[in-house]
Amino acid sequence: MQNTEPNKLETIASLCKRRGFIFQSSEIYDGISGFWDYGPLGCELKRNIKESWWRQTVRLREDVVGIEATIIMHPAIWKASGHLDTFSDPMSMCRDCKKLLRSDHAWDIFADGDTGGAMADLFAGGAPDIGRVVAWIKGRGKGVAPNLAAVKAPDASIPHLAAGLASVTSSRDLYTLLATPAGATAPTRACPHCGGDMTEPRPFNLMFKTIVGPVEDPANVAYLRPETAQAIFAQFPNVYATARQTVPFGIAQMGKAFRNEVTPRNYTFRSREFEQMELEFFIKPDEAVELLCGRVITLADNPDLATISDAWGWEVWHKYWVEQRKAWIISAGLPADSFVEYWQKPDELAHYARACVDIEYAFPFGTQELEGIAARSDFDLSQHQKHSGKSMEVFDEALKLAANKLDDTAKAAFTEKVAADWTARGKSADAARAFVARLFDGKYIPHVIEPSSGVDRMALALLCNAYAEETVTDEKGKSEVRTILRFAPNIAPIKIAFFPLVKNKPELYAKAREIFSGFQRRWNCFWDESGAIGRRYRRMDEAGTPFCVTVDFQTLDDGTVTLRDRDTMKQERLTVAALKEKLETILD
Ligand code: ATP
Repeated sequence: MQNTEPNKLETIASLCKRRGFIFQSSEIYDGISGFWDYGPLGCELKRNIKESWWRQTVRLREDVVGIEATIIMHPAIWKASGHLDTFSDPMSMCRDCKKLLRSDHAWDIFADGDTGGAMADLFAGGAPDIGRVVAWIKGRGKGVAPNLAAVKAPDASIPHLAAGLASVTSSRDLYTLLATPAGATAPTRACPHCGGDMTEPRPFNLMFKTIVGPVEDPANVAYLRPETAQAIFAQFPNVYATARQTVPFGIAQMGKAFRNEVTPRNYTFRSREFEQMELEFFIKPDEAVELLCGRVITLADNPDLATISDAWGWEVWHKYWVEQRKAWIISAGLPADSFVEYWQKPDELAHYARACVDIEYAFPFGTQELEGIAARSDFDLSQHQKHSGKSMEVFDEALKLAANKLDDTAKAAFTEKVAADWTARGKSADAARAFVARLFDGKYIPHVIEPSSGVDRMALALLCNAYAEETVTDEKGKSEVRTILRFAPNIAPIKIAFFPLVKNKPELYAKAREIFSGFQRRWNCFWDESGAIGRRYRRMDEAGTPFCVTVDFQTLDDGTVTLRDRDTMKQERLTVAALKEKLETILD
């Protein structure tokens, strides 16, 4: 990860605080790391993101329903899902400064911190010679990284530094060299903060623990959910029994998730409390599709993703959801060229996953995951069936009828074809035969495609994308820098700001209030009566408000108002009815 625009994130964070988007949690007590509060504008922004996601994922589809489950669930859920045993990050502790950090983030922390900055300074003007390095370890290094081996024992280190400098090409190489004690063959694992020696990485489970009930007993330990998805799997039988849906169909959930991230960083990007928007879209196993349709459509068939087909296999469903998600991201305001698809390589995939795509956005601190879309096979429902002893199967009458049409020879041939296919994928042939026998009875555990996104990461991406500064010159030739958040109108926290030209003319003021109230019922509007109109515009530009409406003396004569567009700064006069019609077209 490289820091592509080092100051942009700080500039955005400062705007977010100044305008009331995001505050540090518990700030009056010096804050708490990894937790963020959303202020008046930030909470509207998040609400708009969530509403847009829910509308497009659930309301506008007939094949997706929603749930809202509890944050604390039976701990057995996390055993079945694998989170208790494997949901961990590698953690190291510095033996010198005692700081804990995520071992695989050490170089990112180094690059972003004071120590990396100081090393980079040493490289100003090219790779440093031994003279400059020695001056550094005897001078500035004592303050920046006092626990580097070379800083602790400068004179003893000079010979091996002189020898090692020839192969140093980056500040990271130099740091490693300075961390290597004189006479040692291998470098120590250098702490990115102080240069001290870090412990070997150890897995650290990211789930927050809590106690349910009044007795602090290990038997009462529960966990704050680290993702919203598991409740969907655990409630699958109930939703299936009540929602009048048949596979393929989806269950969506939005809500808080908690991860005790070892090193929360990059503003809200990696928080310890955050919100997710997740969809589990259940599909038939390809073998059931084949029995029902006589074939399985794959990507090699170049299917039209706009027309859903019963014969789609998992691969097409997965691609379909990647495209759906991208369309939503664009509709929320991120341009298509601001994010990329990263298709995980086979050796990066979880053992049960068949494909996983990360949508990565070009954040100021590097191109990083915004959301993921995974084809997770039947792993999750199968795990819950195994651990709970409750069936997660569905029954499909049409599948049973299709199987009944096959004679014994055809059934045997189908069974052996599936067994050979499973064996080729490293799975048991016996398990394949048992699975096919259930299919012939019309029964199977659905497979799932999981688009999983984070509200906070989307909000951060939208803020980064929307932020702009431009120099504007007024009619008197005076220039000033205008800061704007160019949010898409559907996502902008405030849609329209209303300004009475003056506040001391009762008739004008009353007219402006009347117009404002009419619009306020429909959209999130803002009333601002103080300061010059130009200053009111600037405040709304920084809040990302796409439209400002000024009510003046002419309004009293002919009922027209002035509409000012945030992006073009153009102004037009139109009647209140025409204004409403225009905004309806844009905002709804
Ligand atoms: P990362 O690799 O960045 O830790 P992940 O692969 O663990 O992410 P998932 O478990 O797939 O993430 O979670 C789905 C989505 O939830 C992510 O794409 C992201 O948008 C969001 N998310 C996950 N962890 C965090 C976090 N600590 N802070 C904010 N959002 C998060």
